Amino acid sequence: MNDLSMANTATHKAFDVQSIRRDFPILSQQVNGKPLVYLDNGASAQKPLTVLDAMDRYYREMHSNVHRGAHTLGDRATAAFEGARETIRAFLNAGSTQEIVWTKGTTEAINLVANGLAPKLKAGDEILVSHMEHHANIVPWQMVAERTGAKVMPIQVSPEGELDMDAFNSLLNDRTRVLAVTHVSNVLGTINPVKELVSQAKARGVITLLDGAQAVPHFQPDVQALDCDFYVFSSHKLFGPTGIGVLYGKSALLEDMPPYQGGGEMIERVSFERTTWNVLPYKFEAGTPAIAEAVGLGAAIEYLNGLDRPAMEAAENALMARANQLVETVPGMSIIGTAKQKAPVMSFKIDGLHPSDIGTLLDQQGIAIRTGHHCAMPLMDFYGVPGTARASFAFYNTLDEVDKLFAALQKVQRLFA
Ligand code: PLP
Repeated sequence: MNDLSMANTATHKAFDVQSIRRDFPILSQQVNGKPLVYLDNGASAQKPLTVLDAMDRYYREMHSNVHRGAHTLGDRATAAFEGARETIRAFLNAGSTQEIVWTKGTTEAINLVANGLAPKLKAGDEILVSHMEHHANIVPWQMVAERTGAKVMPIQVSPEGELDMDAFNSLLNDRTRVLAVTHVSNVLGTINPVKELVSQAKARGVITLLDGAQAVPHFQPDVQALDCDFYVFSSHKLFGPTGIGVLYGKSALLEDMPPYQGGGEMIERVSFERTTWNVLPYKFEAGTPAIAEAVGLGAAIEYLNGLDRPAMEAAENALMARANQLVETVPGMSIIGTAKQKAPVMSFKIDGLHPSDIGTLLDQQGIAIRTGHHCAMPLMDFYGVPGTARASFAFYNTLDEVDKLFAALQKVQRLFA
């Protein structure tokens, strides 16, 4: 084990939620005089001590710029940074670290791909997205469509919040160039049948991108098994720091795409006559990268690798099952998104109550949820609501916290009844 690599420091830890919670110092505080119940994990998840320590140690012991090779600290920083890239590669089961590009997050990764594919798009081409996408997987495509004359086509969603596969099949045609869909919906929790979507798209030579922002906190994708061309996610939802994310891309496609931004690092040779690009993945990494954040994300994944993943998924499913059971204890409460395959995300409304009032009243009881349109306005329009309240669970949440949420919702409902 390389002692400079933060990657391999986690030991295997059986799934024990109380001991896991001790790894997340932020969870043991009081908010508004009540123990914090953090159920806003879909917006951003909390960080284990190993992540905080890895970043602290990086700054204390090895910070320098990377890939300069001029001195020992630079070598240490480079080893930690590239070690983290290898951790991501293994997490996604990508074939090579050349296919792992650091970005600021999911949003930047999708913008990078949309811009990179722009030269391949022409008037009349079609880009398929779904009606349940986050704005990050709609707007970059709209911007590129505006430039190229391509059209963005939304795949319909059923009232239960599942992708309408018949609609998908009838939208897929000879003009389709790109399919960009979310693996898990941030609003509905729906787990989309991405393997099937990708395989049908690929059969027609369509380029595929999966938005994994809400999937990776709950399960580990295998990009080779999925066979998608691009897979993107953000570190901060995966228990890592903000400011960094990942673009996985098949090397042949990445090779074929122009750089996203120009500057240092992304070049091989610069002259006023002709500038040439660096090899993958550096061609897409202009400027000094988020080094400590990469190290922190590597540590977050190592932390997850140390957990009993099947037990973690079972615990998350139990949280969701308890929540579903308790819905009927709150008069007028209904769930938006009842897909058969669901991640532990619960969007809901309560008759006569505005989502933001629900959020404010829960906050007074120490319970953090998210309210609003969740950056999915087309989906809000589809359901005819201005927004929803959303509780999104992580493996460190407890059944007791689910009970507290529902006790608080009953109180809120009584107040307004
Ligand atoms: N895609 C999905 C499904 C999301 O849930 C989010 C964030 O909520 C994003 C994209 C955008 O992620 P970021 O803001 O980290 O770039």
